[in-house]
Amino acid sequence: MVLCKQVLTFVIALFVMSCSGIELKHHNYEQMVSYMKAIHEKCPDITRIYTLSQKTVNGRELVVMEMSKDPGQYKPLKPNLKYIGNMHGNEVLGRELLLYLLDFLCGQYREGNPEIVKLVDTTRLHIMPSMNPDGYAKATEGDCNSVQGRPNGNGYDLNRNFPDQFPQRHKEPMQPETKAIIQWLKDYPFVLSANFHGGSLVANYPFDDDKKMVEMYSMAPDDDIFKVIAKNYSYNHPIMHLGNRMCGDVFKEGITNGANWYNVAGGMQDFNYIHGNAFEITVEMDCCKFPHHSKLPEQWDNHRRSLIDYMKLVHMGVKGQVKYANGTGIPNAIIDVAAKNPAKKRMSIRSTGGGDYHRLLLKGDYNVTVTVNGKTITTPVHVNGIPSVVVDFIVSGDSITAQSVHPNLHPTSGKPVVISNKVSDILDAEDLHDGKPVVISNKVSDILDAEDLHDDIKKEAKRPHKPLASSRSDNVAAAVVIVTIGVIVCVLAGIVLFRKVKDLRGNNEKGGYAKINQEKFDAYEP
Ligand SMILES: [Zn+2]
Repeated sequence: MVLCKQVLTFVIALFVMSCSGIELKHHNYEQMVSYMKAIHEKCPDITRIYTLSQKTVNGRELVVMEMSKDPGQYKPLKPNLKYIGNMHGNEVLGRELLLYLLDFLCGQYREGNPEIVKLVDTTRLHIMPSMNPDGYAKATEGDCNSVQGRPNGNGYDLNRNFPDQFPQRHKEPMQPETKAIIQWLKDYPFVLSANFHGGSLVANYPFDDDKKMVEMYSMAPDDDIFKVIAKNYSYNHPIMHLGNRMCGDVFKEGITNGANWYNVAGGMQDFNYIHGNAFEITVEMDCCKFPHHSKLPEQWDNHRRSLIDYMKLVHMGVKGQVKYANGTGIPNAIIDVAAKNPAKKRMSIRSTGGGDYHRLLLKGDYNVTVTVNGKTITTPVHVNGIPSVVVDFIVSGDSITAQSVHPNLHPTSGKPVVISNKVSDILDAEDLHDGKPVVISNKVSDILDAEDLHDDIKKEAKRPHKPLASSRSDNVAAAVVIVTIGVIVCVLAGIVLFRKVKDLRGNNEKGGYAKINQEKFDAYEP
């Protein structure tokens, strides 16, 4: 029976590979770069490859692919998001799944999948599969637990190498990879980010440490938002949100405050949040750090929906431009946000080079305060969740005025309109807090249906998606032979396994996040 299950698992893996067309194997540095170049050749209009400002210790470029409707171009109010994989060189799942994600987005965009077209058209997605290619070169496939390949070329742990909010705890010399990331944060006004690791199964959110350096909850000013975005990831994964003892730890709903798990001083996610305007979480993708390549199809299937849906959250909250009456953007304006009831100060952010600001917020009523050259204005804003409401701030002489703009209109050309407060537009903290299904509209067609969602996912998996370069035909041939044998020998085992998978899918759908975000996102016309 055990043998049957193994054969069937292999058959399913091959089936997924042949259906998706994605080259599911590990890629060394040269193969990774080639893979990205091939995606660019396949989707030249929506992709751009660039490198960070510094090379690694061993002289490798840190390679990023931007995917956007207008790659490389600033567009007012279009938010930037980044994904970083392989920060620890031996934790490789993020590296591979981000490559597959790029390939998937490219293919789906070309085929006109409306969900992906909208995401790419409205967002600047910056994806760096490997932050630590030097460490990767020393790691070994199948090594689930060791630390061989974890640090960079100088032997430093990059996720302990950023300036810490408690300065006395930052002692190691800053590494070139760390400097490159900090410069990257200066070059692009990232709003949302995720950093992918391995060795556990959880979505970890700030803060990662506390002053006393003891294991206890270290609450960020935007703790409510972090919990929602972390749950968005865990509930779109078939088992992460279950919080069972998959890798030795129990995480309720598949999320954890970083410091409450264990203290990390000098971590990247806290630096992003405190100094970079960007909300970042750290996702532990699987118990095994460097899984055998045969595990990749299953992992891609597990994480695909989470990876896609998390990106949509960059459109949640309030955004706008701080500018002079002639339309010139004003950088470095300070934007403070406080909930009206109960009043609570949140992390300040600053407007970017073009005067844009993007502030992630859950549904609710807030006071937004903008400070420019000592002048201040506070205005009430009702936030609907997704899409972001747009509020511009116009500086003229000694005065600042706030102007609400419908998100469908460009703020410099559209006339001010009343911001929507339709119930169907609402996404709030309470709705998402318990991770339960939420009915956000009374319309039957809008209500989450587990079977519908399952069908969506099945359709997505079956969309033709040509590989970049692979032995796909060999895989298909092998699959045909083994499927024939597998079907005859393992029918009963297959039924058992299928029911298990279905159960897990059902649990995932109970979270309801994918459907909610899809509806919100569909309503967004940039
Ligand atoms: Zn790690």
